[in-house]
Amino acid sequence: IPVDPFDLVIFGGTGDLARRKIFPGLYRRFVDGQVPDGCRIVGAARSEMDHAAFREFVGAALAEFIGDSQVPDQVAAFLDIIFYCPIDAKGTSGWADLKALMRDGPVRAFYFSVAPALFGDLAERLHDHGIATPESRIVVEKPFGKNLATAKALNATLAAHFNEAQIYRIDHYLGKETVQNLMAVRFANILFEPLWNSQFVDHVQITVSETVGVGGRGGYYDTSGAMRDMVQNHLMQLLCLIAMEPPNKFEPDAVRDEKLKVIRALDPVAASEIVRGQYRGPKGHTYLDEVENPESGTESYIALKVHVSNWRWKGTPFYLRTGKKLRGRASEIAIMFKEPPHSIFGEGEGWKQNVLVIRLQPDEGMNLRVMIKEPGPGGMRLKDVPLDMSFAEALGADVIIPDAYERLIMDVIRGNQTLFMRGDEVEAAWAWTDPIIQGWRARGDMPAGYDPGTSGPEDALMLLHRDGRRWREIA
Ligand code: NAD
Repeated sequence: IPVDPFDLVIFGGTGDLARRKIFPGLYRRFVDGQVPDGCRIVGAARSEMDHAAFREFVGAALAEFIGDSQVPDQVAAFLDIIFYCPIDAKGTSGWADLKALMRDGPVRAFYFSVAPALFGDLAERLHDHGIATPESRIVVEKPFGKNLATAKALNATLAAHFNEAQIYRIDHYLGKETVQNLMAVRFANILFEPLWNSQFVDHVQITVSETVGVGGRGGYYDTSGAMRDMVQNHLMQLLCLIAMEPPNKFEPDAVRDEKLKVIRALDPVAASEIVRGQYRGPKGHTYLDEVENPESGTESYIALKVHVSNWRWKGTPFYLRTGKKLRGRASEIAIMFKEPPHSIFGEGEGWKQNVLVIRLQPDEGMNLRVMIKEPGPGGMRLKDVPLDMSFAEALGADVIIPDAYERLIMDVIRGNQTLFMRGDEVEAAWAWTDPIIQGWRARGDMPAGYDPGTSGPEDALMLLHRDGRRWREIA
């Protein structure tokens, strides 16, 4: 869908996210013809540099992250629309220059790809210097607060200068093609929705498993942990899309109203239904070494059993798990269906439950496991086989699945908030998260150790075993 010309300012234009995701994503949209003539993309950050030096910086980022698929003419044309403005979010200089770079006419969007402590400063200065217009949009990165109080304060700060329709809180999981496909599968087919409830779904597993450790982000991560860094936002958003009622339209507030109802229906989580872990590798490679905090009680792994207390889901648990330094890198949602009410084939004939797996990474796609008869003359033995739909395979090799950021940035320009979190949603998610964190703090719970390269702490296996269930294997 074509968009109108825009002026996009990226605060934090020299940062890691801008280099790895935002500029490469914008370049791909440019090559696809989605960045019309007359657009401007302006990097703004503290470093002193001119337009030419910044174009070199962006060119180097494209070379690194797009690599061989760059087309030199296209790169040159793309760099022609890139500008730079040195600015300190907390200072007074630079704002007049930024204003001078903006034109009358194009939609203005401001991407806050800086530390959250600066979001308020940017909002205030954009407003005070008359740079933001009533049609302008701001994009805010995660983390959105670190608890309910800070999220509320941040919402209030932004609301002082922008109305809700102008604020795009990004959760890049929502920009993933498979996540949007989840909505298509649920609401554009008659096959699944009749089964999509506690009568037919035994349980749901949501897994985000990483092989990397905290890397260079140790300082930040140790103040956050897996619950805040992953569960409160990404896993919660996935849970909402699975559990929500059908919205009456695929429109921003219709979808977000339904997601909000799910978050509000979440039960508090009992201490016995949470397992936290911390990786303990060889000396020098433990979590504690990497965050340089020998006393740290922050979790690099968490598993929880979550109950959605409403008519549709009562009795069907959602098991969530995420962690670092695990055996495999995978993000998936698995809908585990119940047994048929009666087996005409008798016991022990190889029955396995039907599973719908929605893979976010690697190789985005869906896979439905169904039972068939094992071929051959050996009688009626059952076998489970995949009905596989890898998007790349099903849609042809030349279909390029856009990166989540590409999709989301273009939605900002289009003014479509469907895939962005509303302020009340974020607050509701924190209202559920806060007591869980306060609970383990009050009890003085420490995370259990686990070996890097495994599937996490033993207790996480027990969380399902004691319910007669097991986690899916992540290779
Ligand atoms: P970074 O530290 O690499 O870059 C920060 C940017 O902010 C730099 O361009 C820096 O010049 C600029 N900056 C710092 N102080 C400034 C000031 N006072 N005024 C103006 N500019 C200033 O950070 P990053 O990794 O690019 O992350 C940016 C945001 O995106 C953060 O909110 C982060 O939590 C979020 N985020 C990053 C990633 C990622 O993969 N890097 C992923 C998800 C979310």
